[in-house]
Amino acid sequence: MTAPTANIWTNWAHNVDVRPRSIERPATIDELRRIVRDAARRGDEIRAVGSGHSFAPLCSTSGVLLDLSLLHGIEAVDPATGEAIVLAGTKLHALGEPLFAAGRALANQGDIDRQALGGVISTGTHGTGRVAGSFSAQVTRLELVTAEGDLLTIDARDGERFRAARLALGAFGILTRATIATVPAYKLHERTRALPFEETLAEFAETEPGVRNAEFWWAPKHDVGVLKTLEETDAAPLPREAREYPPGTVERYLKPEIIDWSWRVYPNERDTPFVELEYTLPLATAPLAMRELRDMMRTRYPACIWAVEYRTQPGEDALLSPTAGRDSATISVHQAVGQPWDRFFRDAEAIFLAHDGRPHWGKLQFLSAEAIGNLYPERPLFERVRKELDPKGVFLSDCLRGFGFGS
Ligand SMILES: Cc1cc2nc3c(=O)[nH]c(=O)nc-3n(C[C@H](O)[C@H](O)[C@H](O)COP(=O)(O)OP(=O)(O)OC[C@H]3O[C@@H](n4cnc5c(N)ncnc54)[C@H](O)[C@@H]3O)c2cc1C
Repeated sequence: MTAPTANIWTNWAHNVDVRPRSIERPATIDELRRIVRDAARRGDEIRAVGSGHSFAPLCSTSGVLLDLSLLHGIEAVDPATGEAIVLAGTKLHALGEPLFAAGRALANQGDIDRQALGGVISTGTHGTGRVAGSFSAQVTRLELVTAEGDLLTIDARDGERFRAARLALGAFGILTRATIATVPAYKLHERTRALPFEETLAEFAETEPGVRNAEFWWAPKHDVGVLKTLEETDAAPLPREAREYPPGTVERYLKPEIIDWSWRVYPNERDTPFVELEYTLPLATAPLAMRELRDMMRTRYPACIWAVEYRTQPGEDALLSPTAGRDSATISVHQAVGQPWDRFFRDAEAIFLAHDGRPHWGKLQFLSAEAIGNLYPERPLFERVRKELDPKGVFLSDCLRGFGFGS
């Protein structure tokens, strides 16, 4: 994300430019409440921004863009339950050390740790493995500022409202604090190996159920898969070699072994800007989709050298979770910023849809509101909760209306 100049804001991938009426950076929750109340009274639209790492135009608005980056830090870690109360503007990379000092760690993390907590919860950001789910699944309690400027707390005792709020795309209000379930601090042993494509699929199916986290990357230019596993260990650290190899190379994923505390192992450096489309598919159909995607890329898009990522996730209960009701595999396609991606991503999407896929909310997709409604049967329930919490649609935007909210 570039630093905001005047009223122009750009996301990390530079595919979304926003010209809001104002960009506000509240330093306290009281200031945030005042800004929301005043904007709502004026009839302005309000959107929050975390780190701007979404590829979808989720932060686009002509109204007020709320940058939460000054509201950061861990407020408390409950020694009995391990639950951590964290301000929503906290970047994930700022969580590892203080949680570790309290003997705790996040149960799972994604590919990078640059995002803000409010952003990863709001979009269902996830890592790999069925042992622990997405950030939306790791939340046990949420506090948000409503359109009236009031503070509202939602947790499991609120039933459907909590299932809706776990992944709400910023449509319910501005998250201020989240309580996160943590686990005792653990070390991970990362191992990678390169295999021909079909062997990668077979090895993944065999290995994934028995390890903590597994994923593979398929590098199209070399037609090679790199299988990565993470397993808990008490062994002495073998720190990471800090080097990012270029996109498309096998070396970008095939690395020397790493043993370290979990929060140092999960995140990678991803400095070369790209755009991405990701779908979540039923575990059983995902390998078929992956084979079709490989054939399609090799025949129609041989110039797309960015690797395809294949991960798993447990089924989750958030109303808008792409994994709702089913253990899943996710397949992500990438393209360099500045290179053509539209036709390639549309063709990939068609394959994923034919295999019962659902899109990642923070990434690119081409679906109509009607098509999204068919994929997320609990959208009407989500919409009912949204209307209860924000009847005037202060937190809606063109992007969310395009997804079918507020209609
Ligand atoms: C290099 C890179 C790697 C990535 N790796 C992964 C990965 O491994 N797994 C994965 O699932 N995704 C991944 N993503 C996608 C990314 O994690 C999500 O799009 C995520 O939402 C970005 O977090 P953010 O803090 O940048 O949120 P933003 O993009 O800033 O915002 C996302 C949404 O959250 C809302 N929001 C943010 N803060 C608040 C708040 N306080 N209150 C209410 N709403 C709020 C915004 O309004 C918006 O709707 C990756 C993206 C990039 C660029």
